Amino acid sequence: MTTTKNAIHTHVPGFPRIGAARELKFALEKNWRGELSDAELESAGRELRARHWALQRDAGLDFVSVGDFAFYDQVANHIQLLGCEPARYGFQPEQSQLSRYFTMARGRSGDAHEAGCGCGAHEADALPAAAALEMTKWFDTNYHYLVPEFTPETAFSLACERLFDEVAEAQALGHAVKAVLIGPLTFLWLGKTRTAGFDRLTLLDRLLPIYGQVLDRLKAQGVQWVQVDEPILGLDLPAPWRSAFENTYWQLNQVGVPLLLASYFSPLEENLSLACRLPVAGLHVDGVRAPQELTSIADWLPVHKVLSVGIVDGRNIWRTDLDAALAVLAPIVEKRAGRLWLSSSCSLLHVPFTLAAETQLDGEIRSWLAFASEKLDELNILKRALHGDDAAAVNAALATSRAAVASRRASPRVHQAAVRARLDALPADAGQRRSGFAQRQAEQRARFQLPAFPTTTIGSFPQTAAIRSARASFKRGELDAAGYAATMRQEIAYAVRQQEALGLDVLVHGEAERNDMVEYFGEQLDGFAFTRLGWVQSYGSRCVKPPVIYGDVSRPKAMTVDWTVHAQSLTGKPMKGMLTGPITILQWSFVRDDQPRSRTALQIALAIRDEVADLEQAGIGIIQIDEPAVREGLPLRRGRWDAYLDWATQAFRVSASAVGDATQIHTHMCYAEFNDILPQIAAMDADVITIETSRSDMELLNGFGQFRYPNEIGPGVYDIHSPRVPDQQEMVRLLQKASAVIPPANLWVNPDCGLKTRGWPETQAALRNMVAAARQLRAIY
Ligand code: GLN
Ligand code: ZN
Repeated sequence: MTTTKNAIHTHVPGFPRIGAARELKFALEKNWRGELSDAELESAGRELRARHWALQRDAGLDFVSVGDFAFYDQVANHIQLLGCEPARYGFQPEQSQLSRYFTMARGRSGDAHEAGCGCGAHEADALPAAAALEMTKWFDTNYHYLVPEFTPETAFSLACERLFDEVAEAQALGHAVKAVLIGPLTFLWLGKTRTAGFDRLTLLDRLLPIYGQVLDRLKAQGVQWVQVDEPILGLDLPAPWRSAFENTYWQLNQVGVPLLLASYFSPLEENLSLACRLPVAGLHVDGVRAPQELTSIADWLPVHKVLSVGIVDGRNIWRTDLDAALAVLAPIVEKRAGRLWLSSSCSLLHVPFTLAAETQLDGEIRSWLAFASEKLDELNILKRALHGDDAAAVNAALATSRAAVASRRASPRVHQAAVRARLDALPADAGQRRSGFAQRQAEQRARFQLPAFPTTTIGSFPQTAAIRSARASFKRGELDAAGYAATMRQEIAYAVRQQEALGLDVLVHGEAERNDMVEYFGEQLDGFAFTRLGWVQSYGSRCVKPPVIYGDVSRPKAMTVDWTVHAQSLTGKPMKGMLTGPITILQWSFVRDDQPRSRTALQIALAIRDEVADLEQAGIGIIQIDEPAVREGLPLRRGRWDAYLDWATQAFRVSASAVGDATQIHTHMCYAEFNDILPQIAAMDADVITIETSRSDMELLNGFGQFRYPNEIGPGVYDIHSPRVPDQQEMVRLLQKASAVIPPANLWVNPDCGLKTRGWPETQAALRNMVAAARQLRAIY
């Protein structure tokens, strides 16, 4: 039995807010459709918070987290808390905070304002259209936050009561409260500025007093702790940002409320001693992503400070090996007597809510998993084990954990001898096309006889209501497999006819049969499992349900050949086969943690390689392997980029290299910052790469030009994110811009990305103009 003096505390940096059954999503979408009042939405939020706090308390956590809830995004909450809504929205004081919040999150279309209401009163206060705040990925997660906008004029003020109301709410429910804030440096870091030469760090002096006021208020409310998230401590920070930490935390610490500085996702490395030194009451670190740093931190962090060890993985769904965790913790417990907290590595926002709903999951696989609720229980067991409490219950839980670890380690579901053998015997040149690009290009030109500026699309055509309803009936068992296949074949035939009529040069089958570009393949590969309700918030009300890669990956049979061959049979034009690449499949799944990611990537690559070979065998001469997620897989620390890029490009090359020289491999990437990884993109050696360039007005292509990107490129000539139909001249102008930086003979003409979210009328109109633009270019060059 531990005395209270040596008590270990448990908490989590944050909890999923969307709800076990995505209640928040549905409430939000109703509110946006006008079917749920703001007051009702607020009460739905209150209910969810109450439920989630109760879960945390019932699992024995010593504090509940308050401030991690948001109707859309926690960064957007801070924009309101700190009073820095961008001036461009022209918000009026009488406009409700919630409506301003959703305007920033979702944008405002000027004419849609109260459209059709006709009462006249709205005309006067109709506000001009305003784009939503930009959205970007939260560190290396698939969660997207709303990007704060800063200008030299940005002012801050304590402008929103929401956080304090939520604290009061939790206290009224009898909870011990740890409030959660994004730290001032991370908040500034995450923002952007359009003012050239303006350094947003200069806003810090204006921002800190407001943080001071926030902390004053929280202190007055009697919160026990305030967790201040500074995950940028895990990044390669420019010197001025690093050196801003000491003074910032010296100031914030003056308030006198205990601060728990939280870092996660990445090792602290050169910021480690800084983090240990900062004048705060406690430090939270990610013990899953950076276990190697735990010993030094336990040694260096002054003894009077709390050390919160993120020992349960907040980024993945595997059950914790509790014995292993206890072994890691044992030496730290000694060193940090009475000042040790246990936690998940980061907010549980990034994992699904509960396993309880996964009744259809295979029992053995299910026994290997822990979602957010189960992770709370794991923390509780670890705490009790270290305290020496409840020996019987704890031993039973440890035994269950041990059994799960053992079963996962030995299960034939996980370990396929044939997959391993194939990987081990992989020839050194498996990632090598037979000839260099020049040779391949010559053979492909002779084979396909395409015109200059060949036109194509990225793969998907509109997923119409008819397609979605056929899929839904098929899944419900109302439509049989034959009926479903027949419907999909008709849809494919329709897409082919449209493309022929439009005069496109390289056709696609349109992807009607695919729900999602990863799920479609995962469902057909061995080693993947799918959850029923394993939703994770992606942004706002949007959630994704990533597959779980639990075992060695293999491909029992061809996945796309029938559909593609059917499509090819309908046209004399080349039909492009369409696959998702290994890195994207990896990146958009929960990946096994019992072998390096690189090995899992290679296993997927081999499955895709077989599919590529089968397509070639079936006469498909052009095959696209989509890799939109290559860039987002980059580690947060630059020092780790090379290692990742090496295996990522190798995995792509393995997937693409089993074919002859006359088979043309395409890849597609969506919008990304490519400039710093151009050598590796070139090293992927796709014969053609298509990228999203229209929104950057073709600027993105300059890097490819300066780098002298060697292979062919299709820079997107129109934005597929909006229904707007670009005219021919607009696309001609973009193609001329492209021709100035890339040899025209290497240019393709295509939209930015797939067209699945578009309707047919605008798709046809846009593609008609695109084909006309390509023809105009052919006459010029
Ligand atoms: N082939 C996919 C499509 O057209 C590519 C989507 C993507 O890159 N995100 O939809
Ligand atoms: Zn794309």
